[in-house]
Amino acid sequence: MHEWALAEAVIATAKRAAHEQNLRRVTEITVKLGELQQIEREIFAFALEHILGQEDPLVRGAKVVFETERAQFRCRVCHFEWAFETENLSSEITEAIHFIPEIAHTYMRCPRCHSPDFEVIAGRGVWLAALKGEE
Ligand SMILES: [Zn+2]
Repeated sequence: MHEWALAEAVIATAKRAAHEQNLRRVTEITVKLGELQQIEREIFAFALEHILGQEDPLVRGAKVVFETERAQFRCRVCHFEWAFETENLSSEITEAIHFIPEIAHTYMRCPRCHSPDFEVIAGRGVWLAALKGEE
C-alpha cells in the first residue's frame, strides 16, 4: 500500500513542521504531487483523510489541498530544459509516460539537439508544500 505509506509520511512531516512553527493546531496541509509520480490520487486522498481523522488534536481534521508540479526535463548533452506539455505526443503515449516515466526516453528527444539522453528535473515525488494553522 504505497499510498498509505506516503500519506503517513506526509502527516509525520506535517506534525514535525507544526512543532517547529509552534502551531497549536494545523488547519490546512498543502501536498505537492509530481505530475509523473505513480500514485492513485483517490486512494492517497482517502488515506490522508482517514489518518487525519484519527490523529492527535494537533492535525486532526486538517484540510488537505493538492497541487501538481509539472514535469520538467533537462538534456544531458546541451543542457536545454523543457516542460512536458510542449511535447507533441499522442494521448496514448502521454498516458504511458505518466504511468512509467522511464518510457519518456523511448518517445522523447531533446527539442534542441534531439538527444535521447535527458533527465527528469521536476514532476516526481510527493511532498509537504505548506502548512496553515493556529499558534
Ligand atoms: Zn539537447
